[in-house]
Amino acid sequence: MELKPITHGNNHYEMPLEHGNLHVFANAEVFQSFEDKVFEMADNNLRIPRGKHMSYTPDAHVGIGTCIGTTAVWGMIDGFVSPSIVGVDIGCGMRVHTTTLHKKDIQDKEIRRTLIKAIEKYVPTNERTNTNYADIDIMQVVKYGLKGLPELYRSNEQWLTHVEESTFKFDHAYLENLPPKIQKYAHGQLGSLGGGNHFIEIQYLEIAEAHKDLAAKWGLFDGQVVVMIHSGSRAWGARLGQEFTKVFRAVMQSWGVENPDRNLLYAPIESREGQTYLHLMYSALNFAVSNRHMIAYGVQEAFREVFGAETELPVLYDLMHNYALKEFHRNQPMLVHRKGATRALPPGHFLNTAAYKETGHPALIPGSMGTSSYIMVGKDEGAKNFYSICHGAGRARSRKATKELVTVDQFAQSLKVGTDEEILVNHRSLQTILDECPQAYKDVDQIIDSVVGAELADVVATCKPMVAIKG
Ligand code: 5GP
Ligand code: MN
Ligand code: MN
Repeated sequence: MELKPITHGNNHYEMPLEHGNLHVFANAEVFQSFEDKVFEMADNNLRIPRGKHMSYTPDAHVGIGTCIGTTAVWGMIDGFVSPSIVGVDIGCGMRVHTTTLHKKDIQDKEIRRTLIKAIEKYVPTNERTNTNYADIDIMQVVKYGLKGLPELYRSNEQWLTHVEESTFKFDHAYLENLPPKIQKYAHGQLGSLGGGNHFIEIQYLEIAEAHKDLAAKWGLFDGQVVVMIHSGSRAWGARLGQEFTKVFRAVMQSWGVENPDRNLLYAPIESREGQTYLHLMYSALNFAVSNRHMIAYGVQEAFREVFGAETELPVLYDLMHNYALKEFHRNQPMLVHRKGATRALPPGHFLNTAAYKETGHPALIPGSMGTSSYIMVGKDEGAKNFYSICHGAGRARSRKATKELVTVDQFAQSLKVGTDEEILVNHRSLQTILDECPQAYKDVDQIIDSVVGAELADVVATCKPMVAIKG
């Protein structure tokens, strides 16, 4: 495909493809690095009728049906919904908790090893389930989100207000259409991390000079120890995704809708299938936010074991990067799909949760287990991309290619910071998580530079890893 982008300046390109224009927010270097395949995939997505906006953030890379790093918007009245542009792990997202600790307090490796052990006691990693929370009724959780958790686990009011949404409301009558055995698959998974690139990380902060006041308002300080969590809706969202892949494929066939990519699935929002998917997708968002809440609950228990029973871990924020939300933009109700894209609302924007109305909310952007992650805040200029920014560094190469390229020694080297400091990892053997090494991901600093240069968001704090617990 010959590519002749329109250059808007400020890291904003517009690629005229056969079926419509794709906006790309990236600096020149990142933009050059995009392979043809991501533009082919965008063109397939642009075949879906009546789209209002489609864009890539700089972390964009090939995914199933739609690239990860996509924002795609339709009007609610005549638009489309696509499970492929929501993503496999519905409601996957990020969460950060603060502590009163300074990095010096946990510099000692023995303390950090003790912390890892304690966290692993309370939060099952990999695909294991959590037997600690037998008192939680999954159906209450998928219906009411954080408000469906037993009182014991939502005793901290602040954990319910400093989130993108504590309860995603939907019509519970649609629960009749749940896939068979979904409850069985999701049983015991609340408060468990899941595999792959899900993680719990202990980091310390470096506050950006330009945003010292904002950081202070958010309760952040230089050297502060924080906990960053990345997880999603586990089997609940995965089963829904599988089921609706079948449902949407069948309905597209019955209408004679063809797309060159058979993994790209969509239906009108107003169709029965579209409505059923949308309503049930919200059940998965409720599961996902509750899952991260319960993971954090386990982490807090672990911190209490190590640092004393009074230890509190206030939540900074919890937000998602795989979903479709009804939002009001440009005087119209819209359905905004974010697949591997993070909402970053500016100060004062009406969509902000009340606790962050005035300042704008923290946008939480992971990097990799050996590099920085970031806490950002949206800008008014972000309106040009429906207030979507990147969701991470984005994969640079497949798991297989990573294992072929990087040696365990190189991986170990990338976890050494400075002369005698080291990022500690829960896995005994780095071989088992070689496909998750920093080299598997794009250069996060280039990604953040792209987003800042595009005036979509600013950096408030850089998060430096000290402990990485991977699924
Ligand atoms: P995804 O949601 O697409 O699965 O991954 C989101 C992002 O998380 C990736 O693009 C990558 O930048 C980041 N990431 C993956 N593993 C880790 C990790 O162990 N630590 C940190 N800080 N970030 C990670
Ligand atoms: Mn996920
Ligand atoms: Mn994710």
